[in-house]
Amino acid sequence: MQIPLLRLQCGVNSYDWGKVGQESAAARYAATTAAPDFAIESEKPYAELWMGTHPSLPSKDVETQRTLLDLIQDNQALLSAEITERYGSQLPFLFKVLSVRKALSIQAHPNKKLAEQLHARDPRNYPDDNHKPEMTIAITPFEGLCGFRPLAEIVHFLQTIEPLRKLVGSQAASEFEEAVKGNENSEDVAVTQRNKDALRSLFTTLMESTPEKIESASKDLIAAAQAAPASFGTLPGDVETNPGDPAELAAIIQRLNEQFPNDVGLFVFFFLNFIKLEPGEAMFLKADDIHAYVSGDIIECMASSDNVVRAGFTPKFKDVDTLTKMLTYSYAPIEEQKLQPTDYPYVVLNVPAYSSASSSMLYDPPIEEFSVIKTDLNRTGGKATFDGIPGPSIIICTRGRGRITVSHKTEEVQEGYVFFVGADAECIIENTGSGEGEEDVFTTYKAFCELTGKEDMVNGQ
Ligand SMILES: [Zn+2]
Repeated sequence: MQIPLLRLQCGVNSYDWGKVGQESAAARYAATTAAPDFAIESEKPYAELWMGTHPSLPSKDVETQRTLLDLIQDNQALLSAEITERYGSQLPFLFKVLSVRKALSIQAHPNKKLAEQLHARDPRNYPDDNHKPEMTIAITPFEGLCGFRPLAEIVHFLQTIEPLRKLVGSQAASEFEEAVKGNENSEDVAVTQRNKDALRSLFTTLMESTPEKIESASKDLIAAAQAAPASFGTLPGDVETNPGDPAELAAIIQRLNEQFPNDVGLFVFFFLNFIKLEPGEAMFLKADDIHAYVSGDIIECMASSDNVVRAGFTPKFKDVDTLTKMLTYSYAPIEEQKLQPTDYPYVVLNVPAYSSASSSMLYDPPIEEFSVIKTDLNRTGGKATFDGIPGPSIIICTRGRGRITVSHKTEEVQEGYVFFVGADAECIIENTGSGEGEEDVFTTYKAFCELTGKEDMVNGQ
């Protein structure tokens, strides 16, 4: 039988929001294994590198030039019988590198039940009947929006950002303030539900604003951010917000307005957590969680689906009615939106790896379609041996150089190289860099799916 280690050629697409030319990690990675007709153009935006079997941009085996999808359909042992039975002859996940220069639309992805309904009603705008949980791990410093802010922060902005208060109307703003006053941090179920209802009502009012009102409020908002950035959105002695620095807040609002002039998203910003991730930090987006990516290079893993309900920062179809109804209106501080990695137990590090504080960290969201392991081998000769797992893996190198071995097949690895490893195969990666130091760290991300031990999980809830 053929050894289940394939080097992959992965395509990159060119959406307008992508980083330009060599700035784009997605483009640089793609270029290391590109088709002969690919060359990075210095003026062109490159947004997403796709690693997987999705038919819109399928990865290919470098050696035979057959698609991974085709190879998997020919040899189901690559996925394992369990995975094939559950998901058919395709990867259950799609693995990506995103290079974000300009904000992506504010969005949420429907849960399974809603996805089925939306797809039945409107297959053109909702092409899949599946849910789409997503996980994001920063490769470079990342900015994004994720989930609703703690209520005290929203109240703070209603009181300090005059154009926001004017846009939702002072009556709606006062009603919200009255409803949540003194109860912002209550853990009582009934009180929390009343808070969520109040938030839903206020957010729906905002989202139903007319374009004329939004345009006029945006102009006032930008004027305020320009006039006094050092005191933008502040009230003496009031709550901590994210970002905490008023000048940074004013700068972000102006930057977003340059990207999407007069967009309702400028005001949605004051409802959502502004989150920054350092390289290696992650967040997981459950079904019906509102979010947007603002800037940075990231590793993203998601269930194979393409359902997006959009709410702002987009020229595309916006479904305000569906969006305002589907959201959970859970509100929480940003620490609760982050996903903490844990030590991955099914890997053995050799002495050079162990003694240089190398690590294999597991990012394990509460869904069955995927998990991701980030491995840093900090010294040349450092080696990590992964047990075989009953499911498929895709591995990308984002830094340094090394080797990957499955059985008696070994391949060189450099930044941007991508490999597929079949089910049940033990896999060894090794740092072959020239010496010690920051520049010699060898970093890989491995996405995988195994069903064992996850039988009880339903729909990411
Ligand atoms: Zn998303």
